[in-house]
Amino acid sequence: EIELNNLLLKIVDDYLTQPDAQHLSLVFHLPNYPINILGEPNLLRQAVINILNNGCKYTPADGQVELSLLKQSHWAIIKIIDNGIGIPAEDLPYIFERFYRVDKKRSRKTGGFGLGLAIAQQIIQSHGGQITIKSVLKEGTSVQMILPIK
Ligand code: ATP
Ligand code: MG
Repeated sequence: EIELNNLLLKIVDDYLTQPDAQHLSLVFHLPNYPINILGEPNLLRQAVINILNNGCKYTPADGQVELSLLKQSHWAIIKIIDNGIGIPAEDLPYIFERFYRVDKKRSRKTGGFGLGLAIAQQIIQSHGGQITIKSVLKEGTSVQMILPIK
């Protein structure tokens, strides 16, 4: 059993101790009630970190990345929203495929294997959940993960 506020707080804590080279604002909205789910904490942590890393990696200096947790009927909802470079509409259908990266076409010096989203999706689905992504090029990206509440 995992309490999601605790899991996210710990991720946020670790994040804030890293040097913030990009001067991003990180904003967190956590509820004041516990949200319990069943699962493997290390895997779920990995899924959230992959999405959070993307939000930071693909958001230019002085941008904002927002992490929020809420509950809607039987679902826990984790949202990570950035106002970064966004994803072209034609790439969106492929974004969860292994090794798919938009960035070979982009000028940003961001490294990566194109695995973060594929791994996050695999983890979320194996917990009975779903991950969805919405994005507008040059405006930002919003990733939503839903997980069944215990
Ligand atoms: P890795 O996560 O393996 O280090 P990666 O970040 O390139 O590498 P994914 O996390 O799977 O791989 O993301 C796939 C592609 O989707 C990225 O290369 C990037 O082009 C695009 N992408 C993912 N998240 C965002 C985001 N928040 N904003 C803009 N583009 C994104
Ligand atoms: Mg990534």
